[in-house]
Amino acid sequence: MASIFTKIISGEIPSYKIAEDENYFAFLDINPLAKGHTLVVPKKEVDYIFDLEDDILAGLHIFSKKVAKAIESVISCKRIGIAVIGLEVPHTHIHLIPINNVSDIDFSREKLKLTETELFEIAKKISKKLEL
Ligand code: AMP
Repeated sequence: MASIFTKIISGEIPSYKIAEDENYFAFLDINPLAKGHTLVVPKKEVDYIFDLEDDILAGLHIFSKKVAKAIESVISCKRIGIAVIGLEVPHTHIHLIPINNVSDIDFSREKLKLTETELFEIAKKISKKLEL
């Protein structure tokens, strides 16, 4: 069965899309740890990041770098933290999280409650930076 992220990539399930290219797709996490918390996924559905083919794994990081630069130009933060958990959704994804302190990337913390409008506006601002 297709993963929820494969359904997001195909458009079957809506998302707050940030960017995509031939191999990768980025969208906002709907339960963010911080404003701008983004997920970057390879379009090819592989559960565990270290099972990806080398070129897809390398490209995932290069695509994430572009997205991270766009996030940090829109969201005020010290830097973009990067994490891979993958215990909830079995489709490789990198979390990109604007952080000021180590606690900002603590996944046991309560998530932010953002409105649909807030998420839409954040995604729009970040994705605009990637169009330039
Ligand atoms: P993990 O697999 O532990 O790295 O966590 C999966 C992440 O995906 C969590 O942070 C969820 O909030 C996020 N997530 C799950 N479903 C969706 C969705 N439909 N749209 C955006 N983010 C999602």
